[in-house]
Amino acid sequence: METLLQTTYPITETFHSLQGEGAWAGTNAFFIRLAGCDVHCPWCDQKETWNARRFPQHEVTDLTQWVSQANPAIVVITGGEPLQHDLTALTQALKERGFRLHLETSGAYPLSGVFDWITLSPKPFKAPHPSLYEKAQELKVIIADPSDFIWAESQSAKVPPQTLRYLQPEWNCADSQTWIIHYILRHPQWRFSLQTHKYLGVQ
Ligand code: SF4
Repeated sequence: METLLQTTYPITETFHSLQGEGAWAGTNAFFIRLAGCDVHCPWCDQKETWNARRFPQHEVTDLTQWVSQANPAIVVITGGEPLQHDLTALTQALKERGFRLHLETSGAYPLSGVFDWITLSPKPFKAPHPSLYEKAQELKVIIADPSDFIWAESQSAKVPPQTLRYLQPEWNCADSQTWIIHYILRHPQWRFSLQTHKYLGVQ
């Protein structure tokens, strides 16, 4: 039986802002936040996105039109966990319009779609699909507890040598920034990722 290609997606929000985190921080970016996530990180700041059924479905044609109107430097597809959905149709349509596409994923599901940049943010609560590691340009590990450095190193061992490695403090963990600074001073392969958009007070 022929499988129908997914052409509508449950959308939590779309917005045009600056990328706040990681290697592309400060870049003009249009965000498409897809609903649905079963990774269930206890400190998740997007818990409202977990149940995809709470959000309206939007057609690829609408989403590409919104992106075209914003004309950003990059399009960031995020979530929730965007790879719960087949991103083939959405990314093909955006690529046809010439946009540079970035993905932010926990890696909990195999890759779908075509991307110029993949940020893999693996979570111990649902480990990444093994196929994701070799595709990551950027590894971003959230530090909410000192034991997360052990998780970070286990994930770093699985990505290619050229992958950029970031440690990012969990926003509500006051000590995390200090732990990360001390850790990076002893482990120079890592970089600090700050959620600059939260300091700037933008989305
Ligand atoms: Fe939240 Fe992301 Fe964890 Fe899903 S993977 S629970 S969206 S932090």
